[in-house]
Amino acid sequence: MNPEQGQTDCVFCKIASGEIPSNIIYQDDDVVVFPDINPITPVHLLIITRKHIPSLAHMADADTPLVGKMVKVANKLAREQGLSEKGYRVTINSGTEAGQIVPHLHLHFMGGRNLRWSH
Ligand code: AMP
Ligand code: ZN
Repeated sequence: MNPEQGQTDCVFCKIASGEIPSNIIYQDDDVVVFPDINPITPVHLLIITRKHIPSLAHMADADTPLVGKMVKVANKLAREQGLSEKGYRVTINSGTEAGQIVPHLHLHFMGGRNLRWSH
């Protein structure tokens, strides 16, 4: 696998490359944003890296600006969705016990209703 070019059997790499069509909300050289196919909140977007990083646990030191970019894009989305004041949640599930099911680094951006903290 060449991480810079994506992984051929990865659904999120395919969305990032356009091989799988998605309603892309935002994209740039580093990240792509699209709606979660199974939303659990009225606003539920996924912010993914173009680079195939299997999970946060696989992040390298050199990826620090990239991960910072994901959070910055969440901030921008919040403003665009009118959620900066109301509130929203960003989540990264990393690994089995966190319930990560897609092995490509992604940040969940969730909002639009009152959220409870769950275990
Ligand atoms: P997780 O790996 O648990 O952090 O979450 C993966 C998320 O990806 C889930 O919320 C899925 O609903 C979502 N998902 C899986 N496949 C797709 C897809 N093709 N398009 C959009 N969202 C997806
Ligand atoms: Zn991937």
